[in-house]
Amino acid sequence: MRNRGPRLFALALAVILLSGCRARGPGWAGQVPLAKAEKTEFMMDTVITITAYGPKAAEAVNNAMAEMRRIAALMNADDPKSEVSRINQNAGKRPVRVSEDTFRLLKLAQRYSELSGGAFDVTVRPLVVLWGIGKKDKYVPDAAAIERARALVNWRDLILDEKARTVYLRRPGMGIDLGGAAKGYAADRAREVLLEHGVRSALIDAGGNIWALGRRPDGEPWRIGIRNPRPEHGGELLAVVPSEDLTLVTSGDYERYFIRDGVRYHHIFDPRTGRPARSTISATIIGRNSAEADILSTALFVLGPEQGLALIRKLGNLEAVVVTPEERIVSTSNLEDKLEIVRQEGGTGDKGR
Ligand code: AMP
Ligand code: MG
Repeated sequence: MRNRGPRLFALALAVILLSGCRARGPGWAGQVPLAKAEKTEFMMDTVITITAYGPKAAEAVNNAMAEMRRIAALMNADDPKSEVSRINQNAGKRPVRVSEDTFRLLKLAQRYSELSGGAFDVTVRPLVVLWGIGKKDKYVPDAAAIERARALVNWRDLILDEKARTVYLRRPGMGIDLGGAAKGYAADRAREVLLEHGVRSALIDAGGNIWALGRRPDGEPWRIGIRNPRPEHGGELLAVVPSEDLTLVTSGDYERYFIRDGVRYHHIFDPRTGRPARSTISATIIGRNSAEADILSTALFVLGPEQGLALIRKLGNLEAVVVTPEERIVSTSNLEDKLEIVRQEGGTGDKGR
C-alpha cells in the first residue's frame, strides 16, 4: 500500500509551502499589488514550482526555470549524455573537463564529504544503482553485492583539478551521484536569476528544497512547513518556520522507499554500511545557501541527532531539526523559539489534542 510508483514518490515533498500569497483586496497597504508569476515543472525527479512577485516576475520565473533545467541536465546521472555521466563513464580511465557549475558543486560536495567524515559521500552512485530504490521492485541486495558496491564509494578517490577544471574518479566502477545536492544548487541558481530581474519576493519550491526570498508581498515572513515524517501519527505537518531570506531543506526516509518484511528501505545510504541509514527519519537544515543545506540535510540524516547536530553547530550560521526513529523532535537551540511545532502529540492518527 505504501509502495508507490516512482512518479508518486516525488510528490511526497519533504517541505510544504503553507501559504502562497493570498489575493489582496483593494485596501492592501494602499499600494498597487505586485504582479505575480508562477510556473511548475517536473524535473530532477520532483515537482518544481517558482512563484515570484515584481514588475518583471513573468520573465524572471521563465528564466529561473530555464536555469534549473540547465543545471538538472548537467547533473543527471541517469542520462548517459550528462556531464556527471561522462565523469562516471571515464572512471579509472581519464579526467573529464566539466562546466564551472559541475566543478563548483563537486568541490563543495567533496568538502562536506570530508567534514561529515564520509556520511555524505558524493561517490555514492554504486550503492544508488545497486539498490535502485524507486526503480527496482522491493529489491534487497545480498551482503556480498552490498559490500562490493560499498567498497567503490570513497570521496578520497575523487580527484578535482582546479586549474584544468577536470574531474577524475580513480577506480573503474566508481560513480558520482549528485542526487543529494543538485536540487539545492539549482535552487540557488534560480534565486540568483530572480534577483537579477529585480524580484524581491519569491518562493522556489524544489521538492523538499525551499528558497524563501525576501518576505511575502503583504510584508509578513513566509511560513514554511516541515512535513511530519509519519503523518499517520499526528498529521501531515510537523512544524512551521517563519522565514525571510532563508532556505529550508529536508531529507526524509518517506520520500522514496518500500517496506519489506516490516523493514523500511529508503534512498539515503550510510556509506559505512552500504544500507539505508537508520539514525533519523527526517533531517532539516535552515540556512542561506541551498546547495550547502541540501548536502548537509543528507549528512545530518546519516549522522543522526548527536553527531549530526554537533557538526551543524560547529559549522555555525545554520539551524537544524531532526526527528529520531522514536519520533522525538530535536533542534539546534536557536531554533527552539522560532519553530512552531504543530504535530499533534500522542496522536496515533485518530485524533490529536
Ligand atoms: P536528499 O533527499 O537530498 O537527502 O538526497 C538523497 C539522494 O542523495 C539519494 O537519492 C541519492 O541520490 C543520494 N545519496 C544517498 N545517500 C547518500 C549519501 N550518503 N551521500 C551523498 N548522497 C547520497
Ligand atoms: Mg540533500
